[in-house]
Amino acid sequence: MALKLRSHIERVLWDQQQISRRVSELASQISADFGGAANSDPPPPPVLVGVATGAFLFLADLVRGIDLPISIDFVRAQSYGSGTISSGAPKLSLDLKVDVKGKHVILVEDIVDTGSTVSCLISHLESKGASSVSVCAFLDKPARRKVHFQPLGQGKFYKGFECPDYFVVGYGFDLAELYRNLPYIGVLKPEYYK
Ligand code: 5GP
Ligand code: MG
Ligand code: MG
Repeated sequence: MALKLRSHIERVLWDQQQISRRVSELASQISADFGGAANSDPPPPPVLVGVATGAFLFLADLVRGIDLPISIDFVRAQSYGSGTISSGAPKLSLDLKVDVKGKHVILVEDIVDTGSTVSCLISHLESKGASSVSVCAFLDKPARRKVHFQPLGQGKFYKGFECPDYFVVGYGFDLAELYRNLPYIGVLKPEYYK
């Protein structure tokens, strides 16, 4: 295996500048939606729940653009093994520390693929008493959707980009825990998928 990461990438889909521009737009949209109108009582600030590990960079960039007193927490849901094919129903292996009862939650995900992870997590947050659950996913891969989830209550679905039906790596996305640290999102050369 060559050591330089860039040599593993066949094609960059979104570079650092495109990512940072889009993340700023999403952060502004969330700030506006949860900031309330100037002449009304603002809604209570949301809890941003990152889905580990894939969303760690996206969450870190997103929260720094949100000009509201938010809280931040993590859950971990595992569905993929070490390969590129989902193993089906995700398992929750790290639960929330923050009490989300009566709160607006924004679930921050790397990607919505089959939809089974977000759907499962929305039900989980509902059972913990969240008053709404929005989903903020950096990528949406609608071609592979199997579970048609609904945000809870007044929640919305925020998405960064629509992803073509490729297995992508970088900006938090891994293949067997590698490539998360690439600052852009790309597709690997075929020899690295083995
Ligand atoms: P789901 O199928 O439940 O919607 O997505 C499960 C998880 O699969 C995502 O959160 C993400 O971690 C992983 N996943 C889906 N598509 C891709 C992809 O193209 N690349 C990588 N690295 N992970 C993906
Ligand atoms: Mg994920
Ligand atoms: Mg993964």
